[in-house]
Amino acid sequence: MNYSDLAPSYIRAIAPYQPGKPIAELERELGISGIVKLASNENPQGCSPLAMAAMQEALKTIALYPDGNGFELKDALRKRYGVAHDRIVLGNGSNDMLELAARAFLTVGDKAVYSDHAFAVYPLATQAVGATGVSVPAIDFGHDLKAMLQAAVAQQAKLVFIANPNNPTGTFLSAATLLDFLRALPTNILVVLDEAYNEYLPEERRYDSVGWLEEFPNLIVSRTFSKAYGLAGLRVGYAFAHAQVADMMNRVRQPFNVNSVAQAAAVAALQDEDFVRRSNELNRRGMEQITQGLSKLGLEYIPSYGNFIAFKIGDGMKMYRRLLELGVIVRPVASYDMPDWLRVSIGLEEENDKFLSALKRILGEKQ
Ligand SMILES: *Cc1c(COP(=O)(O)O)cnc(C)c1O
Repeated sequence: MNYSDLAPSYIRAIAPYQPGKPIAELERELGISGIVKLASNENPQGCSPLAMAAMQEALKTIALYPDGNGFELKDALRKRYGVAHDRIVLGNGSNDMLELAARAFLTVGDKAVYSDHAFAVYPLATQAVGATGVSVPAIDFGHDLKAMLQAAVAQQAKLVFIANPNNPTGTFLSAATLLDFLRALPTNILVVLDEAYNEYLPEERRYDSVGWLEEFPNLIVSRTFSKAYGLAGLRVGYAFAHAQVADMMNRVRQPFNVNSVAQAAAVAALQDEDFVRRSNELNRRGMEQITQGLSKLGLEYIPSYGNFIAFKIGDGMKMYRRLLELGVIVRPVASYDMPDWLRVSIGLEEENDKFLSALKRILGEKQ
């Protein structure tokens, strides 16, 4: 018998998520070393030393179950953002937030709206609960919120996913655009505002989405410790929402979905604002280095507000493999309907150099 037939048809229809390859796996495959990985938007500076120390301390009590309510982390978030404990959901990465929102609020026959070229987990989380995804055409690779609003109303969607900035395109929606959308959207349609790259926004682009929660009870703001905080391997993220929304999300999560080491590290990471500032600064300089390099090579790119950038290269898969052979891992984005593009994460100066040199070499070969 074919065991996949035992799964509902909507599960069988899911295309598996393609993660970036781990360095060790590629070094084994290609028989080379010193590979530079600029494929998963990880923090090239690592994490805060305060987080590292907290993790070591937390290991001493690793035999014990974690705090299933995450009191210390919720309290640290409350102090930082002024959000009460009952309006916070903690998760195994912010990926968990997207899934919990889908699991709590969507079922077979329901609809979720997202944008073309938006983060791959939105369709995955939607399909996994048997709901139907409605992907709305983008404008210049960014979300078309007017069209998304129309689609959400016309299709009587339950949930809208918005990534700001979006991955893999790096596009950004201004506070005014988001507010227009939220004000026009019926309040019985939930909005997950995925701010995985929030900490990388320049000062003048920042907006108070946490404050907006007062005005919009249907808003879920999702954030992560994986990106600017440099804790991707630990898996810890959080969401702020109306207490009733948070309650529903908390009911469907695993009782111990955030491990004890991750909780301790996240609390410590929140205290180290200097680390985040340095990450941001490094990212700003690296972004300049890479955009200048891409321009010099005559390559088109999408201006990005994250710690990565998408650039146009022709046959993305082929160029991805050529870069791999030269020891640089980037991210193909064909599955985002961008077969002519690649996405590169901003690394340390020398990593960015290695990427640009490899790119220059393969472009030279092409002619
Ligand atoms: C990286 C990313 C996330 C989630 O990452 P986690 O490690 O699960 O927190 C969520 N949304 C977007 C747009 C991302 O790029």
